Amino acid sequence: MLYKSLVYKFKEIIKENGTIFTEEDQLACYSYDAYAEIPVLPDIVVKPSNYEQIEKIIKLCNDANIPLITRGAGTNLSGGTVPKTGGCVLLTTGFNKILEINENDLYAVVQSGVVTANLAKAVESKGLFYPPDPGSMNISTIGGNVAENAGGLRGLKYGVTKDYVMGINFFCPEGNYVKSGGKTVKLVTGFNLQGLMVSSEGMLGVMTDITLKLIPKPKTSRSMLVLFKDMITACEMVSAIIAAKIVPATLEFLDNFTINTVEEASKIGLPTDAGALLLIEVDGYEGQVEEEFSKILEISQKMGGELKVANSLEERNKIWEARRKALSSLARLKPTLILEDATVPRSRIPEMMRRIQAITKKYDLTIGTFGHAGDGNLHPTILTDRRNKTEMERVEKAIDEIFEAALELEGTLSGEHGVGTAKAKYLEKEVGKGTIIYMKKLKNGTDPKNILNPHKMGL
Ligand SMILES: Cc1cc2nc3c(=O)[nH]c(=O)nc-3n(C[C@H](O)[C@H](O)[C@H](O)COP(=O)(O)OP(=O)(O)OC[C@H]3O[C@@H](n4cnc5c(N)ncnc54)[C@H](O)[C@@H]3O)c2cc1C
Repeated sequence: MLYKSLVYKFKEIIKENGTIFTEEDQLACYSYDAYAEIPVLPDIVVKPSNYEQIEKIIKLCNDANIPLITRGAGTNLSGGTVPKTGGCVLLTTGFNKILEINENDLYAVVQSGVVTANLAKAVESKGLFYPPDPGSMNISTIGGNVAENAGGLRGLKYGVTKDYVMGINFFCPEGNYVKSGGKTVKLVTGFNLQGLMVSSEGMLGVMTDITLKLIPKPKTSRSMLVLFKDMITACEMVSAIIAAKIVPATLEFLDNFTINTVEEASKIGLPTDAGALLLIEVDGYEGQVEEEFSKILEISQKMGGELKVANSLEERNKIWEARRKALSSLARLKPTLILEDATVPRSRIPEMMRRIQAITKKYDLTIGTFGHAGDGNLHPTILTDRRNKTEMERVEKAIDEIFEAALELEGTLSGEHGVGTAKAKYLEKEVGKGTIIYMKKLKNGTDPKNILNPHKMGL
């Protein structure tokens, strides 16, 4: 709990149009995020209304040794906004202005609290495209996307958030305002500090404005669904498509358990006896789309898949509903959902899926797997109940083994959800001691009192 005198100082800073929460029931709303982490109450929550207020809040926290946790929409899946030792939660949702969309130079400048889907819609109305599309895009913020390097369904062809960051302005704990990058395609003045902010998980600065690259909107697209009797052939088709030199805009995977769960929840007509399915969308110019579509049809026939094409917008929406509903359908089954994002080189997906199945059996757990197969980014989703201690012990062991399998197959602990607290204990195993030492030095040098989002990534 903060001394009254400190609360008074916060109130003084944000008295013009800002908001402050200090009551327990209000604080409780900011004690958790989308990861199944034990909630911790912050001491205070502030929603500043201008950058001057951010600057003063960050300095006050630094002077008074108060942890500062920057929070966008709180949808991260790694415990990144849980205030582990209390402190001040700073909400960025008031900074929701799109400051510029430049059609000549193909960039947008946005405030960090802009909702991802709002930017996507705004640029699409001008014939432009901002591809990163996390499943949470209707609520997640651009600041949160940058801090987690969010991916999404289009990562395979279009890359992830980091591929669109051109510049970022941010505040540091001692009050410095850093301007990095800019609006030009080429820019090599000084360190690539905007790159440093990508995946920084709120630990290196509070971002205010972000300049993002835009591209022309693809002319046309075609969606299809390929059903397979067995899961491994579905996984093998992912590599076969890439080997045929086709890079679909999206290439998603649902296993039999997830198909059944979606069908039970939404009745969209998915065949529940399919071992797995792939959802594919190709986009670009008409001729290219048709050529790629024919090649995929050919591959699917050769591999024994059953291909269904969307011939109308309604059919397209139905196909994609299967993917959009995957997480929420699984979430209906048990009180606690742990969504992992172990990622492997895509040619190793069949082996990774075999290992996930073996781990599920070994620990007698309920795990549905879906994900961005084209990126090798799988989401084994563990359905459990945090109150069941013996099951949670088995869950822990299963997660350990899933991560071990990903690393053995030359993959990574996290393709897009970040480290936060969820994967902190595994980080060194992937990156090595030298990297941890370097990260600590970087953090200590820019935030000597460890004010910004402490205890995340184990730092
Ligand atoms: C249903 C669902 C689907 C999802 N699908 C995907 C997906 O497909 N792909 C994917 O990558 N992720 C996905 N996610 C995870 C999540 O939405 C992303 O990590 C997203 O980028 C988080 O954005 P946010 O605004 O909610 O950030 P928050 O959760 O509020 O914060 C995330 C991190 O960013 C930091 N941060 C936020 N704003 C700033 C700022 N202005 N300056 C400095 N640091 C800041 C925070 O301190 C924290 O460490 C999904 C989550 C859900 C619940």
